[in-house]
Amino acid sequence: MIDTLRLSAEQATALVARGDVSAAELHRAYIDAIALRDPELHAYLTVCEEHDGGTGIPIALKDVISTKGIRTTAGSKILEGYRPVYDATVTERVRAAGMSLLGKTNTDEFAMGSSTENSAYGPTRNPWDPSRVPGGSGGGSAAAVAAGLAPWALGSDTGGSVKQPSALCGNVGLRPTYGTVSRYGIIAFASSLDQVGPVARNVRDCALLYSIIAGRDERDSTTVDVPAAVSLPEGDSLKGLRIGVPREMNSEEGVDPGVTAAVRTAIEQARALGAEVGECSLPKSVEYGMACYYLIAPAEASSNLARFDGVRYGFRADADDLTALYGRTRDQGFGDEPKRRIMLGTYALSAGYYDAYYGQAQKVRTLIRREHAEVFQKFDLIVSPTSPTIAFRFGEKAANPLAMYLSDIFTIPSCMAGLPGLSIPCGLSEGMPVGLQLIGPQFAENTLFRAGHALEQALAFDVVPGRLR
Ligand code: GLN
Repeated sequence: MIDTLRLSAEQATALVARGDVSAAELHRAYIDAIALRDPELHAYLTVCEEHDGGTGIPIALKDVISTKGIRTTAGSKILEGYRPVYDATVTERVRAAGMSLLGKTNTDEFAMGSSTENSAYGPTRNPWDPSRVPGGSGGGSAAAVAAGLAPWALGSDTGGSVKQPSALCGNVGLRPTYGTVSRYGIIAFASSLDQVGPVARNVRDCALLYSIIAGRDERDSTTVDVPAAVSLPEGDSLKGLRIGVPREMNSEEGVDPGVTAAVRTAIEQARALGAEVGECSLPKSVEYGMACYYLIAPAEASSNLARFDGVRYGFRADADDLTALYGRTRDQGFGDEPKRRIMLGTYALSAGYYDAYYGQAQKVRTLIRREHAEVFQKFDLIVSPTSPTIAFRFGEKAANPLAMYLSDIFTIPSCMAGLPGLSIPCGLSEGMPVGLQLIGPQFAENTLFRAGHALEQALAFDVVPGRLR
């Protein structure tokens, strides 16, 4: 019996390499686990039951990642039944590494949301407590990995969609430096922010998956080659590492006391492992980050989503003429959140308001970038809670977009600055996982892996959800 709940990707790879199980048997074990638990969790929108001939271990992909011939909906009705005619670059890369595809995971519609409640196909439940959300938008990938329904997965992160669900489900999630992973074949939300990242059960797995997907891709002109080879982290010393604790992200204001307590313990642990811990400040990033994000991301989204018109992909409404076809398809095909963002974005970009909103937000984005650069003159990385709360209950924030948006208050600033961020589980509050966010300067993924791995060893968090042990 293969216990998918306890198997890391590294262990699974070793099992297949040694010939203890075949790639097809391993794939089957995950499909069985999906059959057992996914009816309750709904982490998957599409399951690929048949083994596709991959020679290695399996993977799950968020449903914004194009997979040739396999349904890809981005959680939207407007892409109902859409089958891409090509693979995204990251899909090609995981396949080239031998991985078989387990399926496509649930997401808030067009990756807009923090709970999966915006998915047109119904929400995913948190494996730690099914009355709670798994986070979002990549809640499907996070729930799948946490519940042993995939050894690892890929998500996409615009303002926190890899880090936040990873935190809420007790996984390790990386948002890579902008430009290190190709966006070719990713259904675009906000192109200056979107970045694909791994969701895993531990930091070494996360680093390994990152090394497989990262690197220059001619088909995405924003990509670069990763300057330093990815090193799989070992050891438990943080000697010499300077860790900054941004005051505004570690105050008690607006943060669950249980989250604050777990993060403080992790920071003490870092000190005990030899890190030099000091206070720093990111005042503008925290104060203006959200407002800035909610101008820039919707502006880009309004432009990216213009391509969904019922003519070329997915859902098409009945209509007698072309204008009515466009209008009705978009009215019936998009849910409330994409519509809200299209309206916000279109407004921010309109001639009379461009300077006041979009132009201004771009300037604030530069300030956020500079503020981070300044902090990284003195520190190798900074830490904060990934999310101010543990996983919330269904419905708790769904009726109030602003409350939902605040879920990403700590993940958004570094996304705006293009910086890499890692979330690792650092403890429990009310029996639910708490995530610790580590942010580094551009291309500092190896530092994040090293620190994350050392802390992971010291904190000894059990990633198997309590109720499934
Ligand atoms: N929750 C944020 C939003 O709704 C971030 C989503 C994401 O990173 N894709 O925009």
